Amino acid sequence: MEITVDTSSCVSSGQCVLLAPHTFDQDEEDGTVVLLRDGPAAGEQDAVRQAELSCPAAAIRVTG
Ligand code: SF4
Repeated sequence: MEITVDTSSCVSSGQCVLLAPHTFDQDEEDGTVVLLRDGPAAGEQDAVRQAELSCPAAAIRVTG
């Protein structure tokens, strides 16, 4: 599973961080998503797929 994020689309809502806090983070200044790794953290595969579906900006893409 590979994850990509489009930081220019991110609206800083934070759902991804709530769902998968070891895979996603937010910039301390503007809240833009920060991808902590290329793939999901251990145990966060389902949460990452949920984050892709939940992101209000469709800024998360999961492949594989
Ligand atoms: S859920 Fe989407 S819009 Fe919200 S912080 Fe994550 S990437 Fe950005």
